Amino acid sequence: MKYERIKGTNDIFGPEISYWNFIETKARKTSELFGYGEIRTPIFESTELFIRSVGEETDIVQKEMYTFVDKGGRSLTLRPEGTAPTIRAFIENSMINSGLPQRFYYIGPMFRYERPQAGRLRQFHQFGVELVGSAEPSADAEVLQLAKAFLDSLNLRKYKIYVNSIGCQKCRAHYKSALKQYYAEHYEEICDDCKRRFETNLMRLLDCKKDFEIAQRAPKTLEYLCDDCKRHYDQFKSILVALKVSFEEDGNLVRGLDYYNRTVFEVKHELLGAQSTILAGGRYDGLCRELGGADIPALGFASGIERLLLAMKSEELQVPQQSQCDVYAVVLESNALVRAFEIATTLRNHGVVVVTEINSRPVKVQLKHANRLKALVAVIIGEDELSKGTVQVKDLVNQNQSEVEFEYASDYVLDLLRANGRKNQ
Ligand code: ATP
Ligand code: MG
Repeated sequence: MKYERIKGTNDIFGPEISYWNFIETKARKTSELFGYGEIRTPIFESTELFIRSVGEETDIVQKEMYTFVDKGGRSLTLRPEGTAPTIRAFIENSMINSGLPQRFYYIGPMFRYERPQAGRLRQFHQFGVELVGSAEPSADAEVLQLAKAFLDSLNLRKYKIYVNSIGCQKCRAHYKSALKQYYAEHYEEICDDCKRRFETNLMRLLDCKKDFEIAQRAPKTLEYLCDDCKRHYDQFKSILVALKVSFEEDGNLVRGLDYYNRTVFEVKHELLGAQSTILAGGRYDGLCRELGGADIPALGFASGIERLLLAMKSEELQVPQQSQCDVYAVVLESNALVRAFEIATTLRNHGVVVVTEINSRPVKVQLKHANRLKALVAVIIGEDELSKGTVQVKDLVNQNQSEVEFEYASDYVLDLLRANGRKNQ
């Protein structure tokens, strides 16, 4: 029997892990510098939460959810996104009592049943932020500024920010009737998916990749904004200009989820193909109330970590690789094992990565393994050394070897590492 990973999932290991750690560290650091605190919510939630928040007529709910019935007969869903769980947690834990606004970030796996391809997986990972408790355009600007600071911290250059406003319920009603009329006139030309969207999720028509031309000529939400929405959007943009966050307007930008209003934005990477959106978000003022909480405005974004990684690689960005092994302790005699462990402990207390031999193999095999791990120094202890109270220290870069008294061995090794540039103490 051969076991294979499930289609659309990935094993992440080896040098790839350095990219993941790099991206996650930058995500945490940037969020924390903006005063956002981490939130960790469960991987699964009641199915109803997502139907209610993401919306019955969205692709996610219609086609993409991993929903199952547990042994207790409850319908559960592996989270397809992080906003609904965050707001559910905000309400359930009465976080409002700690005052508003509140700032959250999360990093973790999400699950969507999609057709796997480059940049599109069934288990993928998102870094996201949510700013809860402000209706001000300055909040929108802060979130976008955070997004940009994060992407810049990864050293990405070839990306573009697109913004739009989809208005509020009030202005959207007018807009939707104009959109409906427009698409009614083009009904025969649109694809089957669009025909379905025409009945169920009008705004998503603008998002269609196949009927791109028709969508381009459709009426724009910006032409239908009420005075309040227009003011909000103009202020948001003028803050971005003042902050020197460059962006483009895209009148066709709408979000797939039902709960968005006013500001929406997306970041696309220029070197990625079909799946080029590396970050997307917007305002969702109605969600908290929709989920049974108070009427609290909020907004956020989510960024797909797999796509960030592809973007970084497309720009040929390198990340620091964590050393797998600075020092290899070669053990030639079972009684020497304790000695090796002692030196290892002292060195590790100085931040040195030490791997000790545990399989009692011949010296050649041990040194070969040390080389494979890219160790810089080998500490060798055999019967002779044990009886004399010494160790052999071998510089694996220039192959020099010296016998050093056990007592001074770790200092000697630290000096060698410093000379080889692997040690910062
Ligand atoms: P798309 O139009 O690509 O399907 P979406 O609108 O479904 O994206 P969001 O729900 O806004 O995406 O998710 C935010 C980000 O998460 C996306 O911009 C993308 O970077 C990432 N993402 C979404 N779905 C996937 C997936 N199946 N695999 C990998 N990354 C994904
Ligand atoms: Mg999608």
